[in-house]
Amino acid sequence: MEAIQTLARWIKESRYTVVLTGAGMSTESGLPDFRSASGWWQNIDPRTVATVEALESNYRLFQEFYAMRIRGLDVCKPHRGHHILAEWEQRGFLHSVATQNVDGFHQQAGSQQVYELHGSLRTVRCNTCAHQTAQTDFLAGKACPLCQGKLRPDVVLFGEQLPALPWQRALNDMRSAELMVVIGTSLQVYPVAQLPMMTQGRLVMLNAEPTEHDDRFDLVVTGKAGELLQALNSQL
Ligand SMILES: [Zn+2]
Repeated sequence: MEAIQTLARWIKESRYTVVLTGAGMSTESGLPDFRSASGWWQNIDPRTVATVEALESNYRLFQEFYAMRIRGLDVCKPHRGHHILAEWEQRGFLHSVATQNVDGFHQQAGSQQVYELHGSLRTVRCNTCAHQTAQTDFLAGKACPLCQGKLRPDVVLFGEQLPALPWQRALNDMRSAELMVVIGTSLQVYPVAQLPMMTQGRLVMLNAEPTEHDDRFDLVVTGKAGELLQALNSQL
């Protein structure tokens, strides 16, 4: 495919390449989609559970929802595409990965420079005193061992600020980038949708379907993230 050859050339030419990944990067890992999970979750809109409100006033529901999502991580793992990005970092083709995903697959695959813009399901903290504690405590429904506060995963809930440090680092990298590759996100969520506009470099979109922002990109390639990355990798 000509577009893949072009992008492979751009990757080789660029002295500073950054990647931004979204949900489409994780789907090939077989992460169970909670909307299609069995039982009563089918009738619950995650936007009503993944909230500060639910954490404060409906903790049992909140805890069950996130315990299910954390356990879901155990049955899947990074796919070839995650490993390819980690290899590119090692080979000097890639500076960093910013991600909207909370599954930790990029780090699991070996990527070192990862900015988790929406936090992580892999770690747990106390909502009151911020003490980091074992995931098993949260899964067991326990309270904070220090202050008895509510435990929660380190993800960004609806109604919360985005973590400042990863955002600042991602923004800095995007400003420095000569090439930015967006993978598996249709950029519908603000403020992530703004990130590609921060770069003066070449902008590339790899996504399963066309997005409403395609005209802002220098190159758009449609397909599955893992397959496109494998095709690219064979040219590098
Ligand atoms: Zn605490």
